[in-house]
Amino acid sequence: MREFERFAEQARRLDAEDPLGRYRDRFLPADGVVAYLDGNSLGRPLRAAGERLGRFVGQEWGGRLIRGWDEGWIDWPRQVGDRIGRAALGAAPGQVVVADSTTVLLYKLARAAVDAAMAADPRRREIVLDAENFPTDRYVLEGIAAERGAALRWIDPDPAAGVTPEQVAAEVGPATALVVLSHVAYRSGHLADGPAITRIAHDAGAPVLWDVSHSVGSVPVALDEWGADLAVGCSYKYLNGGPGAPAFGYLAARHQAALRQPVQGWFGHRDPFAMGPGHEAAPDVRALLSGTPPILAMIPLLAGLDLLDEVGIDAVRAKSVLLTGFALRLADEWLGPRGVAVASPRAPERRGGHLTLRRADFREVTDRLWKRGVLPDFRTPDGIRIGPAPLSTSFAEVLSGMAALAEESAR
Ligand SMILES: *Cc1c(COP(=O)(O)O)cnc(C)c1O
Repeated sequence: MREFERFAEQARRLDAEDPLGRYRDRFLPADGVVAYLDGNSLGRPLRAAGERLGRFVGQEWGGRLIRGWDEGWIDWPRQVGDRIGRAALGAAPGQVVVADSTTVLLYKLARAAVDAAMAADPRRREIVLDAENFPTDRYVLEGIAAERGAALRWIDPDPAAGVTPEQVAAEVGPATALVVLSHVAYRSGHLADGPAITRIAHDAGAPVLWDVSHSVGSVPVALDEWGADLAVGCSYKYLNGGPGAPAFGYLAARHQAALRQPVQGWFGHRDPFAMGPGHEAAPDVRALLSGTPPILAMIPLLAGLDLLDEVGIDAVRAKSVLLTGFALRLADEWLGPRGVAVASPRAPERRGGHLTLRRADFREVTDRLWKRGVLPDFRTPDGIRIGPAPLSTSFAEVLSGMAALAEESAR
């Protein structure tokens, strides 16, 4: 590998100067893993997650039993939502809940917004979305369009970049009911211009739903400042909530009186324990809830939020830019000459926390890397994603992973 020693020296220097390096010990080690490069799909477990789970089962669930609901669990969806809002979303309290999966919350929020827009003005019957968005987002919106007699209006972004404000401006207008976009594109890692796009949609009279699954805990988000209307995201990626950890939904305070989500269960009722005859929605963000909240599944997320509070999202982002920048230099040096294309934005201000590299045989290359304990992920048709989570990944680990990728690409 060209200039391996020079890059190894850079990795040593970057690690030595890394103010976040000392947090890597907070995570559980993984036997046989040389480089974990998929923090954007599933964050690593914190040691504190297991300890907290054990304590919760023994003392709170085991000791408090049914009393636990009255003593606090009932408020967790909002309390933990407020914590995510403060630590990572730029959202004032009272606008975020933790519940369901991203898919389900996306359905509930998007349906509520489309229903409200169509009721206010029957001409507003288009949902603006993009062809590069995460599949579940596209599928859910297809379903809503079919249910409501709405139409989908597709933006076709450059797959190696993402949706631009100009593209949004060209598609929104008096027929737009809702705009749904990802803040960081799951494939290219493109970082969309949140404030500009939100403004453009609002100028056309349409609300925006941001999917921040790939930004939360990695790139600062400022939903209140952007004037965002709705948002959803995952807690198992950069927030280290664990496989299948619940999602969060944001509904701006100014919309809470008017928007009604379609899965009206008892936990979204004004008074769940009155057990009355008809549904009456809670007057606040709690109306986004449907059934019993996933208390147990929030525990590892609490450990992730403790760490994020301690470090701060700006420090996470600063390291993330250095990590992906380093991976990009290695890709250019070692992989470019072997026919590998970088399918991600090069400008740090347009790049989220991961990169995609493409070559026709990368599915097989990924299989060989996994056998060596080098764990990026593969996305069809031919992309390897490099997602180094800043709190748990060293520059040396990126170097080892990229060196293995270069070796496997040379075979
Ligand atoms: C990861 C991800 C999801 C996942 O949704 P689930 O309901 O948790 O499976 C949805 N949207 C985006 C943009 C994602 O990155």
